[in-house]
Amino acid sequence: MAFYEKDVDVMIDSATVAAKVKELGTQITRDYQGKELTLIAVMKGSLFFGMDLARAIDLPLTLEVLGVSSYSGGTETTGEVRITSDVTKPMAGKHILVVEDIIDTGLTMKFLLENLGARHPASVKVCALLEKPVRARTKIPIDYKGFVIEDKFVVGYGLDFDEKYRNLPFIGVMKGR
Ligand code: 5GP
Repeated sequence: MAFYEKDVDVMIDSATVAAKVKELGTQITRDYQGKELTLIAVMKGSLFFGMDLARAIDLPLTLEVLGVSSYSGGTETTGEVRITSDVTKPMAGKHILVVEDIIDTGLTMKFLLENLGARHPASVKVCALLEKPVRARTKIPIDYKGFVIEDKFVVGYGLDFDEKYRNLPFIGVMKGR
């Protein structure tokens, strides 16, 4: 029995995730022809998705990672976000694609779009593997979207529960949550 089986059910299997990543990569390749693309993966949840997506894009690109931390008031996010680790290069004039694991309330991405937008990039777009529209507290334009899911707490493929389960190769759902 695999270590996770007692606590996690498969929601989206790894073959389905891989096919979607390939499809998103093809779309992005088509849309960014001739442009200087900077892919920013938001840590830690988007590391696996971001790196797989980068390999599915048939263009020269620059990779960056950005660390964020949300302040929570109890169990709910307050929407106040802090950058814990910034990108390594100036973003002025760059075509930025922010890669997120999941857009839940949207407050993290709202902050990131405002923050990155103030650095005078040529463009900023959003690629999210998952979206939980039921929980949205602000409208985020998701330019490239993987899967729309119901309001369940998901883990795997970068997403954690208490820092665990990030290494599952599929999107899973915590049993009983
Ligand atoms: P938002 O600011 O959109 O509410 O939240 C974005 C962040 O919250 C995500 O990047 C992720 O780290 C975390 N998050 C939201 N929903 C889930 C979920 O179902 N599972 C996990 N593991 N993290 C989530």
